[in-house]
Amino acid sequence: MECIYCKGHMEKKTAPFSIQKNSYYLHWDAIPAFVCNQCGEVYFAEHEVDVIQSAISELDRKNAEFYTPDLSTGQKVAKVGRKGFYKR
Ligand SMILES: [Zn+2]
Repeated sequence: MECIYCKGHMEKKTAPFSIQKNSYYLHWDAIPAFVCNQCGEVYFAEHEVDVIQSAISELDRKNAEFYTPDLSTGQKVAKVGRKGFYKR
């Protein structure tokens, strides 16, 4: 496999990936990827792209729950204390 930009050799390594969304920032340190040993271009295989996309859509779905206005009932009040997450 060769790089489409510089025709360099692509090596199977890992690469960081991050994405900035409206209300959060998502970062992975090391995702399996092909990295050009000449220009550093990174290619993710289809499987890795699928995993990234499903993680993002799951986070978007979960993130939306922070903004659903059903906390006024007092039934599901939770706090994050110094020792972590607890419900009361
Ligand atoms: Zn290259």
